[in-house]
Amino acid sequence: MKISKIYFLIYIVMIASCDKKAERSKEIISSQKTQFPKGQIIDLTHDFSEETIYWVTAKEFEMEVVAKGITDKGYYYAANNFATAEHGGTHIDAPIHFAENTQTVDEIPLSNLIGNAIKIDVSENSIASPDYLISIEDLKNWEEENGEISKGSIILLETGFSKLYPDKLKYLGTKERGEEAVKKLHFPGLAPEAAKWLVENRNIHAIGIDTPSIDYGQSQDFQSHISLLSNNIPAFENLTNLDKLPSKDFQVIALPMKIKGGSGAPLRIIAILN
Ligand SMILES: [Zn+2]
Repeated sequence: MKISKIYFLIYIVMIASCDKKAERSKEIISSQKTQFPKGQIIDLTHDFSEETIYWVTAKEFEMEVVAKGITDKGYYYAANNFATAEHGGTHIDAPIHFAENTQTVDEIPLSNLIGNAIKIDVSENSIASPDYLISIEDLKNWEEENGEISKGSIILLETGFSKLYPDKLKYLGTKERGEEAVKKLHFPGLAPEAAKWLVENRNIHAIGIDTPSIDYGQSQDFQSHISLLSNNIPAFENLTNLDKLPSKDFQVIALPMKIKGGSGAPLRIIAILN
């Protein structure tokens, strides 16, 4: 009896290890299927420092040096603490930011954050006009030249405003902070009807812009945020280097800090050209 029990146990252990091996080989097969793009890599991220631009009511970036220098044991050691609001610098807005019972930042599927991307450049109109609203016509103009925005695209909107970063007066429209400063914000954004048009007529995975917000500075009711986020389309804000991207045929990888329950998070976003 005892021996047969032992055999039975060995049998169970063997089955379990076979399952693990099968799982591992599945992982390897799927990673082999994913061809890593080999083109030029462009960083679309501003660095985080005391100059980082935050929403005028949000806590700004703080870094505290814990250690920097040669220790008494003779080796060099550096470490810091940092604190940040979710919505500042280059960051992501998770759907939950403006839409109840939707995805928090840790719940956004990776398939929304990695994929084929396009760039819509309106900088010629927006750079001289801080209240510029990117219109349905701007989207359609891009399509006339490049074909219909394909399913699952990540759309990046170039207003040219990243060139003004981190000058608060030029980039935000005000150097002031606090509730009163919100009314003084002037920067371009996506028109609410254009956001609605994208949601209703195109199937996109994410959207990004080189200004502090997907809604323009003078927005009172954040309707572009609401349209996009309530349809689980996350938004990337305060992007840079969009002028280095072509209009289409490139990939984006946008990986935010995985804050459990977060409404947004600091984001490292890169583009890979074909
Ligand atoms: Zn945000």
